[in-house]
Amino acid sequence: MCQMKTAFIYSDDFLKFSYGQGHPLKPFRLKLVYDLIKAYGLMSLPSMRLIRAKPAKDEDLLLFHTHDYIEVLKDADHGLDVEEAESYGLGYGDNPIFEGVYEWSKLVAGASLQAAELVDSGEAGIAFNISGGLHHGQASRASGFCYINDPVLVIKSLLKRGRRVAYIDIDVHHGDGVQQAFYYNDKVLTISIHESGRHLFPGTGSENETGADAGKGYSVNVPLPFSADDEIFAYAFDSVVPLHIEKFKPDIVVSQLGVDSFIADPLAHLNCTTNGFCKIVSRIKEISPKWVALGGGGYEITNPAKAWTLAWAIMNDIDLPDELPASFLNKYPLDGFKSGKLRDRKYILSGSEKESMLKEVERVVDKIRRTAL
Ligand SMILES: [Zn+2]
Repeated sequence: MCQMKTAFIYSDDFLKFSYGQGHPLKPFRLKLVYDLIKAYGLMSLPSMRLIRAKPAKDEDLLLFHTHDYIEVLKDADHGLDVEEAESYGLGYGDNPIFEGVYEWSKLVAGASLQAAELVDSGEAGIAFNISGGLHHGQASRASGFCYINDPVLVIKSLLKRGRRVAYIDIDVHHGDGVQQAFYYNDKVLTISIHESGRHLFPGTGSENETGADAGKGYSVNVPLPFSADDEIFAYAFDSVVPLHIEKFKPDIVVSQLGVDSFIADPLAHLNCTTNGFCKIVSRIKEISPKWVALGGGGYEITNPAKAWTLAWAIMNDIDLPDELPASFLNKYPLDGFKSGKLRDRKYILSGSEKESMLKEVERVVDKIRRTAL
């Protein structure tokens, strides 16, 4: 169980950046999270530290990313097209070149590295960077809204200090960039629970991807069927995660807490809610000796605010009232806050569709458990 000192890494500087109108990833959602936590009075707890996010240094990024790619990203920082952008995954659709794209990436990565440093040094048992969790970024390529892969940088920085690291990814998309980075490595356990790649980006993450060479067995994937709910998600988590953590015995857990698995998310097709999410977050807390928590997806803009406020409350052992603070609602009269409640209503599927989903996940989970580490 994590010790009680916590740290929250944040800066309004995140708001200086925009992927462009119409792009699903809106840095403004981070401000909503911060303001909701603050409205509940959870930004000035005696047991916590609020740390201002600082950009990573260029050399920090080279822990994982190639020199060539970093140079191209740096050139793209002025927001204009650069030569060979396409071969680095830049400049169209998912990964637009926008003004400050390099500064944004460095700030997010820096905040995650600060979280890792606070936890590894013992200054905090848990540190949370809501801007982090950009798990699709590759060594020399932007992918899925992620230019720099901050979870990989965090894990690499901890490996350099001789730590064993377990990575738990509950984003609706497969944590492909992180898995790839450590696919041959037995010092890092990566676990990703996600919607099946059959119909969803990035298309990978089948249960048969288990690592290779020394890393055989150290990559774990639970693909979930289209429209899976909280019960199915929790079943997958409970069947696979504690068992692997117990066997692997990490020094530190790094988690990606994406909430694009939620019902109203426009980019994916699961039916999760804050109810299941809170159970999973509590479980991660129980099984983590030390915990670096990162954000992730969540494209219905009010979901990260509600879910990550609840997560922060769990990290600090606080039970929040369900009524959203009036001051916050007045400031942000958004559709997603219309119920006036912090928690979603329970949403549990039933009937034959649910039974066949459960059977499918049971099959996958049994296979994973038989070969666990
Ligand atoms: Zn995602």
